[in-house]
Amino acid sequence: MALRASGPSSPVASTRCIERSNGFPGATGPRLRAGSSTKPLKEFALIAALSRRFGRTGRSVLRGIGDDAAIVRPSPGYLLLLTTDLLAEGIHFDLATATFEDIGYKAAAANLSDIAAMGGTPQHLLVSLAIPTGYAASDILRLYRGVMTACRPHGVELIGGDTSASQRGLFISITLTGLVPPKEVLTRDGAKVGDLLYVTGTLGDSRAGLHLLTAKGQAQPYARHLIDRHLHPTPRITAGRLLASHGLATAAIDLSDGLSGDLAHLCTLSGVGAEIHSDTLPLSRACRAYAIASRTDPIRLALAGGEDYELLFTVPPRSRARLERLGARLGCAVSCIGTIRPKAFGLRLRNEKGSWRRLAITSYQHFQERPISL
Ligand SMILES: [Mg+2]
Repeated sequence: MALRASGPSSPVASTRCIERSNGFPGATGPRLRAGSSTKPLKEFALIAALSRRFGRTGRSVLRGIGDDAAIVRPSPGYLLLLTTDLLAEGIHFDLATATFEDIGYKAAAANLSDIAAMGGTPQHLLVSLAIPTGYAASDILRLYRGVMTACRPHGVELIGGDTSASQRGLFISITLTGLVPPKEVLTRDGAKVGDLLYVTGTLGDSRAGLHLLTAKGQAQPYARHLIDRHLHPTPRITAGRLLASHGLATAAIDLSDGLSGDLAHLCTLSGVGAEIHSDTLPLSRACRAYAIASRTDPIRLALAGGEDYELLFTVPPRSRARLERLGARLGCAVSCIGTIRPKAFGLRLRNEKGSWRRLAITSYQHFQERPISL
């Protein structure tokens, strides 16, 4: 599937809609998944079911699922945001620890979080799947149900996608569009020396939840919250829009790789350094309890955890009071965790005793066997 933007003056997402692809697993394939529906996967029936259940769209969509491409009416005066994520079974998710709904929800949430980090309003969604032989239609419908559970609260409409067979493993590619007024767009490259570093929500929960899903301890009272935070992260759409529309943030990024790695991305693009104060990193009570029980350093979870899908953003000191006045309207807590410093300062962590060390940048890197540590 290709997604083409024809330029700022004509932001039309041109795509193949959900349509037949060669080699789609048919009725004769073996069924692999225990617990799947007894109905085998038939592509045309699947597309009809998807269109019926999830394909209803509003006035901005002139043509949705079913044609060769979706047709979307451009919104005058807005910039079009485009983001896409590819999730591969065994790399990003494991069907032993997550349901189809969970996987669909998280795939959509990751894209929604990218739109949030740009200050945008999410709008249209395209979902492409490569499906191994043996899946049932009900499995795929459950995956879409998870996708739409994440998207519906934000008014996002499914307008197309593609399907293919896969020789090994399930692949999900989600493309999401969003809108933002030109003067409100948030990027990673605007942080200035002296800006305050803020983060939404709490950090480290997702990694702790992942550990709990794959190890012992799921019966602990803190486990449910952490596992839920791992499987069902909350994209900070409301916070991102408010930061953008009030002109509060000079730069923003969403935390997918982990605070240290994503801070490094923001600082590199802004040409600055930063200091982080470990005693200000927001940790949930559940994360603290998990850290004690598992003898894990909660600061390390917060810095290197990944997949929290919170927003990291920079605010000039003069805007601090205006940010804090937004309060509950943001939909989440915000915490000041440090300050932007000159590039030569690098990235440093100050611990609760006041001593400094260089911030180890530890985050997941594809194509590497181990996380990098600089
Ligand atoms: Mg991102």
